[in-house]
Amino acid sequence: MHSNHYDMIIVGQGISGTVLSSSLMLQGLKVLVIDDGNNKAASKIASGVINPVTGRRIVKTWQIDTVMPAAVRMYQALENKLGTSIVKQCNIINFHASVQMQKAFADRLAEDPTYLSTPPLPTNITAAFDAPFGHTVIDPCWLIDVGNLLRHWRQYLIEKNALLHDVFDIRKLEINADLITYDNYTAHKIIFCEGAKGDNNPYFKQLPFAPNKGEALLVKIKDLDKQFIYKKSVSIVPWKDEIFWVGSNYEWNNNNDDPSVAFKEKTIAALNEWLQLPYEVEDHIAAIRPANIQRRPFVGMHPIHKNIGIFNGMGTKGCSLAPYFAEQFTAHLLHQTPIENEANINRFNTLEF
Ligand SMILES: Cc1cc2nc3c(=O)[nH]c(=O)nc-3n(C[C@H](O)[C@H](O)[C@H](O)COP(=O)(O)OP(=O)(O)OC[C@H]3O[C@@H](n4cnc5c(N)ncnc54)[C@H](O)[C@@H]3O)c2cc1C
Repeated sequence: MHSNHYDMIIVGQGISGTVLSSSLMLQGLKVLVIDDGNNKAASKIASGVINPVTGRRIVKTWQIDTVMPAAVRMYQALENKLGTSIVKQCNIINFHASVQMQKAFADRLAEDPTYLSTPPLPTNITAAFDAPFGHTVIDPCWLIDVGNLLRHWRQYLIEKNALLHDVFDIRKLEINADLITYDNYTAHKIIFCEGAKGDNNPYFKQLPFAPNKGEALLVKIKDLDKQFIYKKSVSIVPWKDEIFWVGSNYEWNNNNDDPSVAFKEKTIAALNEWLQLPYEVEDHIAAIRPANIQRRPFVGMHPIHKNIGIFNGMGTKGCSLAPYFAEQFTAHLLHQTPIENEANINRFNTLEF
C-alpha cells in the first residue's frame, strides 16, 4: 500500500491521543497522529494527580481499583520505552478544613481504611502549614509528569514519521465505507481525541459535552518538601524544580480559557491563610476540561459511520481513566471485544447522530 496509508488516524495528542496511539502502536498498527500543539489544551495544564479518594463524602473514585494499576503500568512502560521519568508515587496529605471534615475522615477510616492512614508528619511539613484540624494521608497517589510524557511521545512519533503538526480541518475529511481520506493520507479508521474541542465535531456534537474550566497558579515555594501533594481548600502539587502547581476550580459550561482575576485572588487568600512559607506567584494558567455531566468517558465508534470513532470525555480524570480505556478500546478495535457500557457511546442510542 502507499506509504501515506495508515491503519488509524488519531486527531489530538493530549493524554487521550497519546495513550491511545501508544496502545495501538504496541499492537503493531500503523498510526498517524495529527495535533496542532495547542498550549492551552487541558493536558498541558493538568497537575497530573491520580487520587483514589475524592469528594466531601470521601468516596473511592469510579473504577479506581482497576484504572489506577492499569494507568501506573502503562506510564511505567512508557517511561522505559521513552527513557524519561513520567510517573512517581506522591501521596496526598489532606489537611482537614474543619472539625466536621476531621470527623468525616475519622469515621471513614474506622469504617474502611482503604487508601487512608494518619501517620505523624515530619516537623518540616507541620511547620509549613497552619493545620489545626489534623490530617489524613491518601496512599497510594501517583503523580504523572504529563508535560514530559507529551513532549517525549511527540518526539517518538516524529521519529516514526507518525506525527502531523497541523490543525485538523474536518472539511478535508472524506469518508467511504472502507477508507478514510484526509489530504494526502488514507486510513482504515479515524479516532477523534480532541478534548474540549470535541463538542464542535460534526460527527459527535450530539454527545452531551459539558466543558469545565479549571485554573492553577504556578508558585515558587523554595523550602517546601516535594515528596507530597498538600491539600486543603486548594491543592499544592510538585511541578518543576521549586515550582508548585496550586489549584483548582471547576466552572461548568465555561468555554473561556483565559485565567481569571477572581481565581487568582481566591487562591492567594487560601494560601495566605494556610501556608506558612514565603512564596512567589510565577504564572497563572487555565484550560477547559473535556467533561460531561455523567462524568464518564466517551469511547466507541460512530453508529452510522463505522470507521469514525471517539476517545474523549475524560473530564477531571484523564490521567487515571485514559490508559485503561485506551487498552479496552484497542482490544475492541482489533478483536471486537466489548467496551464497558458506562463508557461506550452506544449508551446514547437515543441520540440522532
Ligand atoms: C486545571 C486542571 C487541572 C487538572 N488536573 C488533573 C489531574 O490532576 N489529574 C487528572 O487526571 N486530570 C486532570 N485534569 C483533567 C485532564 O487535563 C483531562 O482529563 C485530560 O487532559 C484530557 O485529555 P484529552 O487528551 O482528552 O484532551 P486535551 O488535553 O484537550 O487534548 C486534546 C488535543 O487535541 C488537539 N486538538 C483538538 N482539536 C484539534 C484539531 N482540530 N486539530 C489538531 N489538533 C487538535 C489539542 O490541541 C490537544 O493537543 C485537569 C484539568 C485542568 C484544566
